[in-house]
Amino acid sequence: MVDIAVVGAGTMGAGIAQSAAAAGLSSTVLDVQEDALARGRASIERDLDRRVKKGRISEDERREILGRVSMTTSVEDCAGAPVIIEAVVENMEIKRKVFADLEGVVAEDAVLATNTSSLSVAGIAAATERPERVVGMHFFNPVPAMRLVEIVTGPSTDPAAVRRAEEISERLGKTPIRVADTPGFVVNRVARPFYLEALRIVEACGEPEQVDAAIREAGFRMGPLQLADLIGNDINLAVSESLFERYYFQPRFRPSYLQRSMVEAGLLGRKSGRGFYDYGSEDTERAEETPAPSEDVALRVISCIVNEAFLTLSEGVATADDIDLAMKLGANYPKGPFEWAEEIGSHAILETLDSLRAAHGDAYLACSLLRERALEGPVSN
Ligand code: NAD
Repeated sequence: MVDIAVVGAGTMGAGIAQSAAAAGLSSTVLDVQEDALARGRASIERDLDRRVKKGRISEDERREILGRVSMTTSVEDCAGAPVIIEAVVENMEIKRKVFADLEGVVAEDAVLATNTSSLSVAGIAAATERPERVVGMHFFNPVPAMRLVEIVTGPSTDPAAVRRAEEISERLGKTPIRVADTPGFVVNRVARPFYLEALRIVEACGEPEQVDAAIREAGFRMGPLQLADLIGNDINLAVSESLFERYYFQPRFRPSYLQRSMVEAGLLGRKSGRGFYDYGSEDTERAEETPAPSEDVALRVISCIVNEAFLTLSEGVATADDIDLAMKLGANYPKGPFEWAEEIGSHAILETLDSLRAAHGDAYLACSLLRERALEGPVSN
């Protein structure tokens, strides 16, 4: 009997199994394809090799970790696992089928978790007879290095399943935060304005190098355009489009026309050799040296992030402390949005949003909770 079963041996499934094994838990990884299992094992081996080279683990530990991961193409091998984490392709029909199949073999009290980024836990859970045991466990890539797990409570999820998911995250050495089953959960939602606002500035007037430089100067490790190039503009645009649709076309989530035309032109970023920067030339070096144009760029982007965090808080998706923690651990932000609100002052953020709204419209509509806090004082949960 294994401690945990993982379904899907791709980037995330392999990472979750590796983290479990490194924490001393045995796992079995289920995939429909033998070669996906082989690739999954190879990626775990590569990562462990790197850790051995860096002196973080010994050869013996590497062997022990690998020995705790088994691979299978048979769903029956998940039967004894008390917790099953699904990380198959991001497709509702496939995930619903996986959950229905799992339910046929696992124990009555097993917890079924999904690592979905953009689908609703509710929709996946509805494919099962006992949706109360279905919970989201949203890990971040690369799993062995990223500490955050968003524990997603669907409308039917039992608090006991949430606690089990938190316990298992902690066993894996991760930091769980509780989030409600809403589009983008916390990190992917609150991080959206980081890209969208930067893209709006570039669309209107700015140079990518200058916008990125201003954001780096504010303490971020990478600028939004650099990061979009790294992630891939096609992937970044697809996330924006999905959130825009799932938030019923609220104007602040409107994707960027500029980014769409870049994707249509094949300017995907690093993987295609060109995006906002040209990776065949010295542009990227120059980008690091470009002076920031003005403080306004960072203030605009941060104000939009803070506004999204207030909206997320006021809708009851997560607590202010958890939103701050999530953005620092899940998106590598130098500070949490509520920490910024304290530092910059809610009033200055509100003024920035109000003047942008007067000039550009409802994409900048300030959250009423932010407006209240700007008049009252410090943020608490
Ligand atoms: P991936 O494409 O690397 O891997 C998916 C794996 O699922 C493949 O090996 C595929 O063979 C397997 N699979 C497909 N159908 C299956 C089935 N019916 N049963 C068993 N295995 C099946 O995908 P990924 O990037 O690892 O993403 C997996 C999930 O994690 C998705 O829901 C994704 O949204 C989510 N996620 C991804 C990231 C990321 O950065 N990649 C981050 C957080 C969450």
